[in-house]
Amino acid sequence: MRKPLAAGNWKMHKTLAEARALVSALRAGLEARPGISGRVDVAIFPPATLLFPIAKAVDGSPIVFGAQNAHFEAQGAFTGEVSVPMVKETGAATVLVGHSERRHVFGESADILTRKVAAVLGAGLTCVYCVGETLDEREAGRTERVVGDQLDAALGGGMDLVRVVIAYEPVWAIGTGRTATPQTAQQAHAFIRARLSEMYGQSAAAATRILYGGSVKPGNAAELMAGPDVDGVLVGGACLVADDFLAIIDAVAAG
Ligand code: PEP
Repeated sequence: MRKPLAAGNWKMHKTLAEARALVSALRAGLEARPGISGRVDVAIFPPATLLFPIAKAVDGSPIVFGAQNAHFEAQGAFTGEVSVPMVKETGAATVLVGHSERRHVFGESADILTRKVAAVLGAGLTCVYCVGETLDEREAGRTERVVGDQLDAALGGGMDLVRVVIAYEPVWAIGTGRTATPQTAQQAHAFIRARLSEMYGQSAAAATRILYGGSVKPGNAAELMAGPDVDGVLVGGACLVADDFLAIIDAVAAG
């Protein structure tokens, strides 16, 4: 039985004061929903500078927090980077790897992402590994090839799948207001689960959570959750407003 997960990627948003206000509103909203933490896991991914204060802000609540990125080396001459041990020291439980903005804006290659997944899992953290095709790739009928290659590259080395969450995020749906239909999302999720099954066996694949991401909003979260292989959502824009993210958490908990 897979417990659904609602995850919020803050991207490069929120000052410290804004972050504290958002977490406090989320905490209040979750407290007003008795039993919600038994039905859904909630994770937030603030910018790196906020990880230590967020650790304090979420303390005693069901909210888990993680980093949006981390370097694969533990330390060294990598100006501007933050390592997995540094992230872990904040109390973060998880790291996003392979978000489309990391792949396409910052040019992170399959090789870099493979090393990042290994570093995150090697440190005992959970890895939310993002995969997804561009619009050109979808229109060329290459979605499964691209997503399959992304899975093979990062997870082909015999990883501990128990601490891996997959986020299927079609690039054309991220921050565009254009969402995959529930059928399109389910089809991609079923493909991902089948690929994980080939790689790790049926029971490991059946236990792995696969999130959908790409313009998830309060108005479409429930229909996206209807797919049997959709185990939650990774939300960008809509997680920055407490009431919107809480409405999405409700939809995920009900799904
Ligand atoms: C994301 O950042 O992972 C994302 C899916 O963004 P948005 O919800 O804004 O499309």
